Amino acid sequence: MAAQTSYQPPKRYQSRHLPFGDRRDAPFYGKHILSVKQFSREDLTYIFEVAHEMREMVMRVGSFDLLKGKILANLFYEPSTRTASSFIAAMQRLGGSVIAINEVRYSSVAKGESLPDTIRTLEAYADVIVLRHPQKGSAALAAKYARKPIINAGDGTGEHPTQALLDLFTIQEELGQVDGLTVTLLGDLKYGRTVHSLARLLSMYRVKLHYVSPPELRMPREIVEEIAQAGIPQEEHVHLDDVLADTDVLYVTRVQKERFDDPEAYERVKDFYIITPEVMARAKDRMILMHPFPRVYEITLDVDEDPRAAYFRQMEYGLYVRMALLAMVLGKA
Ligand code: ASP
Repeated sequence: MAAQTSYQPPKRYQSRHLPFGDRRDAPFYGKHILSVKQFSREDLTYIFEVAHEMREMVMRVGSFDLLKGKILANLFYEPSTRTASSFIAAMQRLGGSVIAINEVRYSSVAKGESLPDTIRTLEAYADVIVLRHPQKGSAALAAKYARKPIINAGDGTGEHPTQALLDLFTIQEELGQVDGLTVTLLGDLKYGRTVHSLARLLSMYRVKLHYVSPPELRMPREIVEEIAQAGIPQEEHVHLDDVLADTDVLYVTRVQKERFDDPEAYERVKDFYIITPEVMARAKDRMILMHPFPRVYEITLDVDEDPRAAYFRQMEYGLYVRMALLAMVLGKA
């Protein structure tokens, strides 16, 4: 129960945002980005328009001062290369600065500090917080306590919304449209959060979805049901060859070793699918091959030369999408 008291903290420390001339009417101003479920198709169009502008600006001037004076806290409780460094690069290219905490064992988390306390601390210093955490639902929990925008950079086996946005942007940029495509998600569909978010986003378009996985790593039923409600045709397969010739986008995932309790169970499935030039030879000429990375066994290095291998370009699209998101939640786009 809240205490009965007439005490009021000083007014100037109660306001929600710092008065930096933000555009408070900007569509995503001050909003958390927790799940792809929060977006409409119009939102996606808008985000991709802004991402395009970001690309233009980076090509033209490298970096600029849109977020000058703003600070991002990049709080990572799990390993990351691309997400962490692309958010840092995005903030720096926009003229802002970053508090990077990617070794939580050197922060007060190692002393037992709770997530809400860490969030409330960082928001005292920063304008936006990017959070990666091993627990599903952690970003939503952080958002409950935060007065500044929280961006979910992966919550356990839950979601990875900014990855899904950049994945969709990649598809649109590479193939010119999303409607009408057949997208095959392959690998660890049970624990892979990127495919959870991507399948949900794709269900806003007129697509056909194939899920190819070992039987023990199937797409979670709740997601299959959600997508069925949107009227999207979905098929589940164990063998890639059943659907490869029909696929426009092949999205490969790593088996998420860190989510397995039983190391033997991981060993049994870890190299179930391996994409080689021979597999690519059976794919469409205009298919694109995507992967959120890191790759372990799933795609051999000699596939990288294939122009259909889009995974390194996918990383660059991610920079522009993350620049767009930061500018948007901070009221500058
Ligand atoms: N980097 C992606 C993620 O954080 C994919 C992966 O780790 O396999 O979910």
